[in-house]
Amino acid sequence: MLLMSLNLFCQDGNICRTPSDVPDFLGAIPPEQLKSTKGNYVVRVFVHFMRKSNGTGGETVATMNTALNILKNDFAPHKICFSLAGTDIINNDYLYNQSGLNSVFSDADHNGKYDQVEVYTIKNAINIFLWPADKLQASAVGIGGTSILIGGKDYGIKLATSHVISHEMGHCLGLYETYNGSLCLPGNSCPEFVNGTNSATCGDYVTDTPADGGPMAVKGCINQGSCIYKTNCLSCSGSGAVLVDPNGQTYNPDVKLIMSNATPNCMQYHSPLQGQRMRLMLENNPVLQPVRVPDILILSNETTSLPYKLYDVLESITVQSNYIVSNNTALELRAGDVIELLPGFEATYSSNFYAFIDVICGTYDQSNSARLNQTDDVSTSMIFEEEKQVVFPNPTTGELMIPIAENDSNVSISIIDNLGKQVLNLNDPKNGKINIEHLANGIYFYTIHKNGDVYRGKVIKE
Ligand SMILES: [Zn+2]
Repeated sequence: MLLMSLNLFCQDGNICRTPSDVPDFLGAIPPEQLKSTKGNYVVRVFVHFMRKSNGTGGETVATMNTALNILKNDFAPHKICFSLAGTDIINNDYLYNQSGLNSVFSDADHNGKYDQVEVYTIKNAINIFLWPADKLQASAVGIGGTSILIGGKDYGIKLATSHVISHEMGHCLGLYETYNGSLCLPGNSCPEFVNGTNSATCGDYVTDTPADGGPMAVKGCINQGSCIYKTNCLSCSGSGAVLVDPNGQTYNPDVKLIMSNATPNCMQYHSPLQGQRMRLMLENNPVLQPVRVPDILILSNETTSLPYKLYDVLESITVQSNYIVSNNTALELRAGDVIELLPGFEATYSSNFYAFIDVICGTYDQSNSARLNQTDDVSTSMIFEEEKQVVFPNPTTGELMIPIAENDSNVSISIIDNLGKQVLNLNDPKNGKINIEHLANGIYFYTIHKNGDVYRGKVIKE
């Protein structure tokens, strides 16, 4: 029995081979010990492009952007979004040439990473290994994990740019297939009842997803064109008696659930309680802690020694005293709202310092970055002062003031929108008054030059 369940993968013809033979992590925690899940979660992802040993083949950046935008849209209703921490290219014929639902990849030590690509795995992110449409299909490393393998095509649909990427991410964030526990899966013995009475303790452990008798696409129980479940669906093998639950009731699963095994074109969403389950996993599962972007970060007393170092946060980074970016190293800071550099921060000659205000959960497009790029390539030693300048009122409905003193000179302001497009550029604004009534409501970023100094910040038009 144990051996059977250890080898249990989704069945042949299924689009996904994520092992689901792991016990329910959340079910093992007494409810009073579960940490609350009110907040927003930003999850780091790192994308690995799989190529041939000679560097050819594989997927494009455009495909990755499409995949990341599908993730963004599918998880936004659940207060979960994704921050692209980086990408790399893996040139390896052996890995590249894997195809179909093969079983080369495994996680024998159950650390949430695939052993065969562990050497490439970034430890603080969910790693998406991206194959082209004629290669490997889709799987996640487990229920709660940090690796996804995706490529291939099924039912005529390229999986990496379908909701199947969100299906695999769902597994990483703790979701089971909706038919988990189904009697159609060998070794499973905890089917969810159609009447829902055991839905918290069997099946997928989520109570707002209807009972699902088995991988419906495999059984031919769904019409791919109409995405309608066939209520006279036959038993697990696709023949014989009509499929019923242990109480004799016929199934009526939600074919639009991304975690169902409907065909990829029918998948649409995760349910509200699946969202809650993922947030609980992000809050409580130790495997997932390193991939969460923290809310705030305070840096001090450090001299960079690595060629490149990245810190990313949801809200603000404050760099306090004695922080030095030493020569021949690079420091990149990314924050959702504010990056504050206090006296004592120093980027030395021939170092690189990058500060990005990310539009958190924004559209992904690397070539036309959605980020506000505030790059400073440090060619001379420089020290940043605390930002004193503000515009007001902020938020504003139209009028904006820059405080200008009598002896201030060379005042200018430029404003860009959250796509990086300049929407205003003004020299010597009269009395420091600026009118932005004509701009659409939203978040804008300003750069003010005054007396040779530069001030940057965010202004909200509403
Ligand atoms: Zn799956």
